[in-house]
Amino acid sequence: MDLYEFQGKELFRSFGIPVSEGRLATSPLEAREAATALGCPVVVKAQVLVGGRGKAGGIKLAATPAEAEERAREILGMDIRGHTVHRVWVERASEIAREYYLSITFDRSAKKPLFMFTTEGGVDIEEVAATKPDALVRLHVDPLEGYRPWQGRHLVYGAGVSDAAERRQIEEIVGRLYETFERCEAMLCEINPLVVTTDGDVRALDAKVTVDDNALFRQPEIAEMRDLAAADPLEALAREKGVTYVKLDGEVGVLGNGAGLTMATVDVVTFVGGRPANFCDLGGGGDAQGVVDALEVITSDPQVRAIFFNIFGGITRCDEVARGILQALEQLELELPIVVRLDGTNAAEGRRILEEAARPNVYAEATMLDGARRAVELAGAAS
Ligand code: GDP
Ligand code: MN
Repeated sequence: MDLYEFQGKELFRSFGIPVSEGRLATSPLEAREAATALGCPVVVKAQVLVGGRGKAGGIKLAATPAEAEERAREILGMDIRGHTVHRVWVERASEIAREYYLSITFDRSAKKPLFMFTTEGGVDIEEVAATKPDALVRLHVDPLEGYRPWQGRHLVYGAGVSDAAERRQIEEIVGRLYETFERCEAMLCEINPLVVTTDGDVRALDAKVTVDDNALFRQPEIAEMRDLAAADPLEALAREKGVTYVKLDGEVGVLGNGAGLTMATVDVVTFVGGRPANFCDLGGGGDAQGVVDALEVITSDPQVRAIFFNIFGGITRCDEVARGILQALEQLELELPIVVRLDGTNAAEGRRILEEAARPNVYAEATMLDGARRAVELAGAAS
């Protein structure tokens, strides 16, 4: 999960990393009020989950509250590499003397967190790595030993920071960034730029934080930051129901159990000339309620004309899946054609349950290929 800049800064502040004071605004007028409260000059910053906002015109200085309102009017609604700006962060502008770069991320091959620091900040770090590799200081941290103060010193001396007061501030920030990274179970904490102001203060002017999705259950405060409103409403519904769901743009809704079978089903639907509208992975051990939830998500997509249900029972029992399908038909009042192929554990029992229910829109097929053909044919007839 990626955090917005303002959320990353909130986190940094709570771990004692200096950031500028700022406020969030969703309208030009709110931006003006924020600028008045903060004191000008301010910088108005687009809040989107992509980098390079500065180059795209999503970051602008304003000398007065009226100007902040104008800049916010320009930035709100702007499209930055496919992301629409709904909010701006207004913060007191910094007078920048120098721009550095500091990050900590996972080095998977070394199985250790890796710090990177350079005084060549502000620009693309990939560019620095490519053109001036010597300027980029890299240092691994042993996760069992944890952070040691010598490591901060190694980074600042290695990068050639000459001012002692500056070095002290950066070393402090390095230690706190490690704490943020560890305590929040982050995959990345990046500060670009880490600036030195004309007064000699060091602070984080940008914040990019990615938290491990699999740790969110242990990080309720961060999980709460997830932006449900900005996400696709169907994806939000799927997440809420705990269903793995991916949107595509055809007409056949695909439901399988297990990633491998689900992907293969998508391929077979395409192979017989159809186009999947989406797919859901029921996962292992899908119970009846899981089937109902998945069907609810799939059928909330208005593009779906027919559903192909492809289950190979292992831990998942086909009789349980069949009951789930019938339950969903009742609860959701589904009228779309549903093609079902059940195989594996309790398949005969599952097919018997569906046969006895004799629902007019449920079609049983014995093989994956026949099931896909039938679903594509029904989707075509319905559209
Ligand atoms: P990014 O382009 O998405 O990485 O956004 P940043 O937050 O890193 O901002 C891009 C650039 O805008 C920075 O490198 C700075 O040069 C400039 N900038 C951001 N905030 C300020 C500020 O408070 N004062 C000044 N003078 N420049 C700023
Ligand atoms: Mn940046």
